Amino acid sequence: MDAIAGMDNVVVTRRSSLYGSAPVDADGGDYVNAVVQVLTSLTAHELLAALQAVEQQAGRERSYRNAPRTLDLDLLLYGDTKIHSHDLVVPHPRMWERAFVLRPLAELAPNLVSDQKISAVSAQQVWLLADG
Ligand code: ADP
Ligand code: MG
Repeated sequence: MDAIAGMDNVVVTRRSSLYGSAPVDADGGDYVNAVVQVLTSLTAHELLAALQAVEQQAGRERSYRNAPRTLDLDLLLYGDTKIHSHDLVVPHPRMWERAFVLRPLAELAPNLVSDQKISAVSAQQVWLLADG
């Protein structure tokens, strides 16, 4: 979160609490998950590139799909914009299937995450680690 706050032309306006989750379709240890809201003059593609640079700085290696990773920064939403390019799809296509996304997102944007959407992923164990 601090690395995102340190990006040029990005201001972090809200940070969710931290949530623990077990890996989905993957091996390795548990994850820590959170959502941040930013104000930015970057385009969505510029923002993705900046997020990927932070992943690289955190030592991320893309060894195989769903491999354990040190850091995964996804662009969930970009205002109301819909994007379908080869390297960027927004809203993030899998966000509604993932409790570890919806629980922190619901803190920042309860209007976007209905109780019905939370119920749909309630079988996935997600636990509150620290209040934001
Ligand atoms: P995932 O986050 O789904 O586990 P990765 O982090 O390995 O997978 O991302 C693989 C690719 O997904 C990235 O190289 C990026 O170009 C692409 N991608 C498409 N849409 C998005 C998005 N909304 N946020 C982040 N990456 C995205
Ligand atoms: Mg990712």
